[in-house]
Parts: sequence; C-alpha cells; structure tokens
Amino acid sequence: MRDILPDQTPLWQWVEARIHNVLERYGYDEIRLPIVEVTELFKRSIGEVTDIVEKEMYTFTDRNGDSLTLRPEGTAGCVRAAIEHGLLHNQTQRLWYKGPMFRHERPQKGRYRQFHQIGVEAFGLPGPDIDIELILITRRLWRALGLDGLELQINTLGTADERRAYREVLVDYFRAHEERLDADSRRRLESNPLRILDTKNPEMRALVDNAPSLLEHLGEASRTHFQTLCEALDRHGVDYVINPRLVRGLDYYALTVFEWVTDRLGAQGTVCAGGRYDGLVAQLGGRPTPAVGFAIGMERTLAMLEEGGTRPKLPALDAYLIMVGGAAEAKGMELAETLRDTAPALRIQCHCGGGSFKSQFKKADRSGARYAIVLGEDELERGVAGIKPLREKGEQQDVPFEAIAAFLARE
Ligand code: ATP
Ligand code: MG
Repeated sequence: MRDILPDQTPLWQWVEARIHNVLERYGYDEIRLPIVEVTELFKRSIGEVTDIVEKEMYTFTDRNGDSLTLRPEGTAGCVRAAIEHGLLHNQTQRLWYKGPMFRHERPQKGRYRQFHQIGVEAFGLPGPDIDIELILITRRLWRALGLDGLELQINTLGTADERRAYREVLVDYFRAHEERLDADSRRRLESNPLRILDTKNPEMRALVDNAPSLLEHLGEASRTHFQTLCEALDRHGVDYVINPRLVRGLDYYALTVFEWVTDRLGAQGTVCAGGRYDGLVAQLGGRPTPAVGFAIGMERTLAMLEEGGTRPKLPALDAYLIMVGGAAEAKGMELAETLRDTAPALRIQCHCGGGSFKSQFKKADRSGARYAIVLGEDELERGVAGIKPLREKGEQQDVPFEAIAAFLARE
C-alpha cells in the first residue's frame, strides 16, 4: 500500500478534477460508498471462482462475528446501495464514484494492494446506446488528460444461456489439451472454464488463443447488440479491436465488455475496464435492472501521464510571513488573517517558532514563496511591512498594511 506524497497530490487533484468535469458534462452524479461491506456481497457478485474472491480479498471478522471485506472494487457496493435506497424503482441512474480499493496481490509496477479507481455505472438502460455513451466518455477522458496511445478492445460475452452452451464447447476443447493446463486452469475446468481465457500465464497463451470463440455461439439478439455497438463506434470514429479472449476477471458481466490498454506500462497494461452486467441487480435482490459500467485505474493513468512527461505542478506560495519579536508575532498572524479575508486567491504561510531574521529568511527561501513579508519592531512602529522578492533580484520595500494585498496581487 502506497503513500501519496505532497509532491504527487497536485497531479492526482488535477486528474480527478478533469475526470469529474467530463462526467458532470455527461450528466453523471457522484455517489459516495463505504469502504467495507459484508463479505457475502462480493462472493455473490464477483463470483466465488475468481482471482479476487479466491485469493485477493482483505477479509476479517468484526466484533460481532460478522465477516467483512475491504472492497476490492466498486460495482458491488454501488448496486447494493442503489437497491437499498430504492434508486432503481422506475428510474434510470447515471452514477460515478471514486476511492481506494483493496486486493491482496503481489505488488509490482502498476499493481498495488491499495489502489484507486474512478468508477461509472448506468442503471436501467438495456440498449447498446448507453454502452456507446460510456465508451465515448472514456475517449473524452483520455483527451481531457492529454493521453494518447490507448487501444480500445471490445468483446461480447453473450447471455447466460449462450455462455452455458459455449461452456461445453470450451470444456471439450480444454479437455482435449488437458496436459497443457496449469493447476489453476485445471481446477477451473470444472468450476468456471471461461476464466481460463483470462489466464495471465504466458505458457498458456497459444492454447487460449486457439480456443473456440464465444462470438460463434451468439444468438440473434446478442449479435445485434454487438453489431450496433461496433457500427456506432465506427460512426463516431472510435478505433477498436475485437478481442474474443477478453472475458474480464469478474463473473457478473454479460454482453458488452471492453478495456482500454496500453503497451507503455509493461505487464500491467489495462488502464480502464468495464462492461454490461444486466443480471447483477436481480442477483443481489433487486428488481431485474440492466446495468453497465467501467472503472479507471488511477495509478496506471497517472503512470501514463508521468511517462508522457506530465509533471505535477506545485502551486507556489505568494508570501512567507517573517515575524521577529512578540509584538510582531501577534500582529503578523492578525495581518495574515486580514489578507486571507480580503484576497482569497493569495497563498500565505506564516513563520512559526520564532528565531532571528536570518534563520526565518532561510525558511522563507526554502518555502518557494515569491515574496517575504517582513515584520519586526521597527516596521510595526511605522505601520508598514517590508516586502522582499525572493525569486528575483529586488530591494525590500515598505508597504502600508492596507496596501499589501493589492501589492501582492499586482506583482
Ligand atoms: P488486471 O487484469 O490488471 O488484474 P482486473 O481485471 O483485475 O485487472 P478490474 O477489476 O477490472 O481489474 O479493475 C479495473 C481497473 O483497475 C484495472 O483495469 C486497473 O487499471 C485497475 N486495477 C485493478 N487492480 C489493480 C491493482 N492491484 N493495482 C492497481 N490498479 C489496479
Ligand atoms: Mg486483477
């Protein structure tokens, strides 16, 4: 789990603000969700036989003996909240959320145990039009962040019935090559054979690439849904690749799934992933409600920006207030408060802890402030402060208290 240090937070804030802005422009509303949910919620939604539930969850028993889990993703909690608060009764919802997610994975570049997502979910809309909107949103997000070089991969998982039929074909295929399956896949052959397509084991790559494709086992409606999506993407000039191996690591998806991937981040190339999960709301006890969403991995997005040379810009202080002597210290804090009242745009830091002019000037310099405001007994008597530029040459000059805000704003 990583700390995000002060030299990094400006970039985080910038990225978050850009993303919020785009989501607002499409009419999506923020929902804030708890970080802890009952374990059962994730088992029932993500699926028992998935990497997340089998080996990645932070699960603990609380003082009541209830099994709770730090959320590994946001969709389950969002659906739980939407059902619990009646947000889905005869209405559509377009929601977004952000925050930390927790998975006990092997930490490496782009893969952490606490990471952050911004997620978007749309409820109550069955057609491919909303799938298209979500993909258009993501495209606009990359533009807003100045990111290029991301590839859109799409696939369809069909309906539950179609997957059931396909499952048999797939199991036959893998059975015929059972000696080439790793231990995980051999186990999944019984419990969840589609998961095998999602393997991260490079030695199984060829086997998986040659597996029969679900695309050939789709019914009319699923085929049309997918075709409409593809045609709309063409119309909007969105480039994409159909990847029949894209099954996503979570059980609740159906029909459309997509990922935005890059080859610039090494093995951890998926920056954003999403899809349709029409069955989940009913599965969690709500009325049947179509749903589709995606989540952006913030760490990977930031890594791409850093690769591309986007540096966090630290907002500089306008002034560092130097105060020598008890009377000056008392007056100085007051002066700073008045300045913050009258000129809200100014960033002013007050020296704390006393000391000589010399030592305080050193701190002022290190603070990165544009100006030092100097207040000693002499200035106090004359009702002025000394103002000295710190980033360029220039003499210290006397400025009456009332004129300081205007002086700093003007310079
Ligand atoms: P992966 O295949 O890389 O494990 P996933 O399919 O498990 O990803 P999702 O559950 O779809 O990932 O999460 C959506 C996005 O969140 C991912 O595309 C990725 O950008 C990010 N993400 C997932 N797990 C992590 C992690 N452990 N550390 C950092 N980012 C992550
Ligand atoms: Mg994963």
